[in-house]
Amino acid sequence: MENPRDNGATKHRKGRRVVLFPLPLQGHISPMLQLANILCSKGFAITIIHTRFNSPSSSKHPNFSFISISDGLSESEASTADVIALVTVLNVNCVLPFRNCLAKLLSDSLEEPVACIITDADWHFTQAVADSFKLPRIVLRTSSVFSFFAYATLPVLRERGYFPIEESQLEEPVPNLSPLKAKDLPLIDSRDPEDLYRLFSCIFKDIKVSSGLIWNTFEELEQSELITFGQEFPIPVFPVGPLHRYFPASTGSLLTEDRSCLSWLSTQAPKSVLYVSFGSLAAFDETQFEAMAWGLAKSKQPFLWVVRPGLVRGSEWLETLPNGFLETIEGRGHIVKWAPQQEVLAHPATGGFCTHNGWNSTFESICEGVPMICLPCHGDQKVNARYVTDVWKIGVHLENRLESGEIERAIRRLMVDSEGHEMRDRVMNLKEKVDLSLRQGGSYRALESLISHISSF
Ligand code: UDP
Repeated sequence: MENPRDNGATKHRKGRRVVLFPLPLQGHISPMLQLANILCSKGFAITIIHTRFNSPSSSKHPNFSFISISDGLSESEASTADVIALVTVLNVNCVLPFRNCLAKLLSDSLEEPVACIITDADWHFTQAVADSFKLPRIVLRTSSVFSFFAYATLPVLRERGYFPIEESQLEEPVPNLSPLKAKDLPLIDSRDPEDLYRLFSCIFKDIKVSSGLIWNTFEELEQSELITFGQEFPIPVFPVGPLHRYFPASTGSLLTEDRSCLSWLSTQAPKSVLYVSFGSLAAFDETQFEAMAWGLAKSKQPFLWVVRPGLVRGSEWLETLPNGFLETIEGRGHIVKWAPQQEVLAHPATGGFCTHNGWNSTFESICEGVPMICLPCHGDQKVNARYVTDVWKIGVHLENRLESGEIERAIRRLMVDSEGHEMRDRVMNLKEKVDLSLRQGGSYRALESLISHISSF
């Protein structure tokens, strides 16, 4: 295998350039930049087109060219918690700036002509732009394949009159989506419920006519789902994941990582620490936050907790921690605003991950052999959590109301009981499959075929 870490940036593959366009959300930017690193190491010249909103840090990627385009977001649009509304408006506002930017790039006499564009699947408008320039568009989908199917099923269920789901039906299995229950469906609250269906039907339609789809997953994990996907979407697919494993350091972080937690972890016993983090968007109310705090305190296990500013709605940072909490934990816990998560998960002291089950977090945990406590909030997180607990059996699901006693019990099940040890054995087994897939299995082959595919344009 050609070493993907070889820096081939100076000897560009047949002199070709790839233009990448990440969606400006943390869970989408990092995988796209990781993909750019891989393609750069394979000899392609890289241009990143990005919005002003949540723009990536160009100084961390001196080998790439960065071009910023206007996104037209108002202050309130940029700070909304309504992700569906945000993605919907971005898909309108960015059409002209993206088209103009691409037109300029194509007319510039670049040393390396553009082979194709690679855009996040959520940028559905880019298919029409690519078609108008007769340029191939490859799509990067940053979720799992099975959660993609769950989204794809929503419009079908709606047509059959499945919604709204009654309270009494929440535990029932969803037709044709075993093992999902009705309460696991990836519904996302939005100002206009129709936005979700409209957005996803555009995404599916434009994936179908794209020149290929890159998945941040690996074949050995989602074999049957990939086969079904191939039957419904007859386009080339490249399950090359885990994208973050090709290069050691993550460089796509929008927030500053507090690395003090790594030295704190080094003072803890092997596999003793529960890492607690809910990604870049999830938010709790004060009661839930307080329950979490007391659950951690009562469990008596060491923990590293990421309390992102904004994690508790309406609060600055730690002011809503309950009185007496810090005294109770007696130095057993360490709290930071943002952690170098992949390094935390890979640290020998980390023994469990209490997560919201965003796909990146879930996949990063699998890749380091760390079992999980699943506390999904919305969208595909609930689907990922169901797979973690019911299919791979590598986690404990907190399905009911967030209550400190429940959290304490879940922590002890994972970190102390024999049940937790069995989960750790199973996730270690998956980690070995990941390593093998990258070395000589599905991901290795998928990356080789992606490189030939791009080189053929
Ligand atoms: N992350 C991080 N530090 C933190 C918390 C999260 O670097 O303190 C990273 C994490 O490694 C992952 C991403 O942020 O790559 C979160 O993506 P995910 O899909 O899990 O959740 P989202 O933020 O999209 O809800």
